[in-house]
Amino acid sequence: GRAREQGLTVGTYDSGQDASSTDRLALLAELQDAFAADDQIVLHLQPAVDLITAEPTGCEALVRWRHPRRGQLSPAEFLPAVERSELLIPFTRRVLDLALAAAADWTAHGIDVPVSVNVSARSLTDPTFPAQVTEALRRHRTPASRLVLEITESVAISEQEIVDEVLARLRAGGVQVSLDDFGTGFSSLASVTRMPVDEIKIDRTFVDEMIDSAAAGAVVRGAVELGARLGVRVVAEGIETVEQRAALIALGCPSAQGYHFCKPMPADKIVQALSQLRDSSSAKVTPLRADD
Ligand code: C2E
Ligand code: MG
Ligand code: MG
Ligand code: MG
Repeated sequence: GRAREQGLTVGTYDSGQDASSTDRLALLAELQDAFAADDQIVLHLQPAVDLITAEPTGCEALVRWRHPRRGQLSPAEFLPAVERSELLIPFTRRVLDLALAAAADWTAHGIDVPVSVNVSARSLTDPTFPAQVTEALRRHRTPASRLVLEITESVAISEQEIVDEVLARLRAGGVQVSLDDFGTGFSSLASVTRMPVDEIKIDRTFVDEMIDSAAAGAVVRGAVELGARLGVRVVAEGIETVEQRAALIALGCPSAQGYHFCKPMPADKIVQALSQLRDSSSAKVTPLRADD
């Protein structure tokens, strides 16, 4: 209703009151309820694995909204609205809490891989973000090295100074930084020289095309060599086939993430998937349940 919208003060940056901004306000009002409901914002988790042994090397948190009427919503359906609103901070807090709770659960099962959390561009221009991360780590008594923050290149080139400072503070505190969707921005190489990162994730489009396109293969090879020279971990995103696995191994790529090894899984299923990957060398996990 009206009172709720007024109380929301979502701080939308564009002032147009068209249908889509009305929809967005409704969505954001529902999202506030979702925070209160406790079981609507959930994470699905997807392991990254060693390409040869299939052993897990990490695990990425991918947010889902179990909307009471519309069913499960993917990030593309609600994140843009969240990112333009004041709800970004409580949203990020919720995602960090869920991700660190998941990591604690893996530890309890003897699996100590780091958890990767995607970070919105706007968080990296927020000077309070490093403190939010530190507080989340403290709440969960988790060492900073267990957390990887995935950022995208578009973030890295806009508002460069503040982003550099935020990233420097996070890394000084021991948090790892991963450059997500590597190769899709026009300044991939520039980003790597400017910002120290711990990992690069080769964008799925190159993995998709590498079998048919020599150019895509060359990008993958270049990223793998870059990672080796810089001492930065390299993960190929979106691996779906055994042919892609063989091609990535031939190019010297150390690790990958994608449906070929394991689909994103609800938190209560991921320990089993991680254990299965760890224990069955070179085996592919039978998807326990389709994600979307
Ligand atoms: P991303 O970080 O690049 O995540 C990889 C996306 O590829 C995920 O989509 C994942 O489900 C999908 N994927 C994984 N393996 C495969 C595969 O083998 N084939 C194909 N076709 N797709 C695969 P999803 O979960 O819809 O997430 C989309 C994007 O939303 C993410 O891209 C990330 O940028 C963003 N995102 C997800 N969770 C969060 C979050 O908690 N916070 C923020 N700020 N962004 C998030
Ligand atoms: Mg990611
Ligand atoms: Mg990515
Ligand atoms: Mg991607």
